[in-house]
Amino acid sequence: MIQTDSPRTLLKSVFGYDSFRSFQEDCIRSVLERRDTLLIMPTGGGKSLCYQIPALIFPGLTVVVSPLISLMTDQVRQLRALGIDASVFNSSLSSDEYDENESAVRSGRSRILFLAPETLLKPEIGSLLSGCRVDLFVIDEAHCISEWGHDFRPEYRQLEAVRRRFPRAVCLAMTATATQRVRRDILSSLGIPDANLLLASFNRDNLFYEVAAKVDAHRQTLDFLRRFPDQSGIVYCFSRDQVDTLAASLEKEGFSARPYHAGLRPEVRTRNQELFIRDDVQIIVATIAFGMGINKPNVRFVLHYNLPKNVESYYQETGRAGRDGLPAHCLLLFGYGDIRNVRFFIEQKTDPEQKQVANMHLSSIIQYAEAETCRRGPLLKYFGETLAAENCALCDNCARPKTPDFDLTDPAKKFLACIRRTGQRFGAGHVIDVLRGSSNEKILRFGHDRLAEYGTGAEFSARQWQFLIRQFIQKGYSFQDHDAYGALKCTPKSENLLSGGERLMGFFPEAREKAKKAPKKVAEPLQGDDELFQALRQLRKELADQAGVPPYIVFSDKSLLDMAARKPATREAFSALYGVGAKKLEAYADVFLRVIAEFRASRA
Ligand code: ADP
Ligand code: ZN
Repeated sequence: MIQTDSPRTLLKSVFGYDSFRSFQEDCIRSVLERRDTLLIMPTGGGKSLCYQIPALIFPGLTVVVSPLISLMTDQVRQLRALGIDASVFNSSLSSDEYDENESAVRSGRSRILFLAPETLLKPEIGSLLSGCRVDLFVIDEAHCISEWGHDFRPEYRQLEAVRRRFPRAVCLAMTATATQRVRRDILSSLGIPDANLLLASFNRDNLFYEVAAKVDAHRQTLDFLRRFPDQSGIVYCFSRDQVDTLAASLEKEGFSARPYHAGLRPEVRTRNQELFIRDDVQIIVATIAFGMGINKPNVRFVLHYNLPKNVESYYQETGRAGRDGLPAHCLLLFGYGDIRNVRFFIEQKTDPEQKQVANMHLSSIIQYAEAETCRRGPLLKYFGETLAAENCALCDNCARPKTPDFDLTDPAKKFLACIRRTGQRFGAGHVIDVLRGSSNEKILRFGHDRLAEYGTGAEFSARQWQFLIRQFIQKGYSFQDHDAYGALKCTPKSENLLSGGERLMGFFPEAREKAKKAPKKVAEPLQGDDELFQALRQLRKELADQAGVPPYIVFSDKSLLDMAARKPATREAFSALYGVGAKKLEAYADVFLRVIAEFRASRA
């Protein structure tokens, strides 16, 4: 059915939303004016709507090229749930499904057709499409066209030739990767050098960013996960072994968790992923193999157990949280031991250029982790953006008090004296052991229990020392020598402090810890005992299981929250809810209204 309604009308009547997000309207207008367009927008920004609304307005077909079968399947499900006719061609179809999709496309019933790039290159698809009017040609995940991007797909290189067969179709390329080089590559490879460039901000303002010194990673992980009962999240680890061990121990602790990595059998991997997507399992413990092609909107937290490879990876991995726009929390456990491990891997590389790049990446992520100022600064700098607000209020650094009010002079002197005395050859762990007077084997072997500094710092816990040392490094009194396996060394600046004249102010670790916990509420509004919300969730899960789709296809968390808050009593009130368009009103209003009415009655 071709719509003569305006984009704004369709936004509510089909999708159930009240207003456009930034750049959506610009993009839709650009496409409707038949200008080739490159849309760069972060994950969760709302790119899909930018072709879906034009697809409903154009008389002809919209062809969407997408690299992953899971993404296509998900989009088709979402569109059908909205009452939009969509088809798909990929290698996973049975011949019946294929025939059905083909006739939908041929008859013009289908508004949107999803294709893998290699499918588009097949002659039978070419001849099918040459009999259709194609008005819009969409390249999703357009960075796959670039060898400079992180997931290059050679088939994408041939899209220009395909595009030329549909001279009437306007081209819309979309991606969440924004480096200049990739951007230029997309425009030239698609042959659309004059495309209208729409560049949205990469700031994800619903994500809370936090870095914690890694002291006891396992316990810290348990503490963190306990803050998100019944909510979905991802824990990223460095190695497959770590994934297996952590997933098993989380299950033993009573969490609903499953592992995911490339070493598992494909069936197991797929099943674990599916359980997660359908809200049957709460936590996925994974290597970075997990995430591409996952469209789950209600991921409420991403925990990095180990240091990510670089700032871009960190941005992409944390970006899987909060696609629905609701608050989500990103925590990085940062330990100096991890830096040593990454160093070790870099040292194995033989190509000097690769080595240099890897080192640059490492220092960029260390800079992020050690930042004293807003975490969004280093993240957005990567995308060539500067943050408008000085205090974002949604990162650990912005959310804590600003004035340094603790005298660090004395602990700093003890620390500096200790690393000097031990020959500037040891990492933070050992130095802390000496300061705290521990008597482990390494201390005895080096005779460090006989030093004057031994045990002088017993008033602070190991965790507190980690915080203190981070401050000494940030303030330029010490540094970690990466050429010496991460040994801590003194800088010339430390002289002034040791010789007595200078005083050093900073933050007391406890105070900082408390401040970090304070913004908890901002990031976790979904938690709690909202009985109605839970009842609605339950109903959603039942309906989704009956239909064999993930719960978010029925309704997003945001829709359920809106429902639980407004408690509509009539169909009219129901239709005003977030995410309720004509089709969902028809399909679900009655069942959900009944549960809401029962809830009201039980409270009366
Ligand atoms: P992207 O493809 O950029 O990662 P999506 O298109 O999947 O993002 O959109 C992310 C989420 O935001 C989806 O749940 C979508 O329905 C929702 N969304 C998109 N546009 C709007 C809007 N204008 N108002 C409210 N929600 C929106
Ligand atoms: Zn901030």
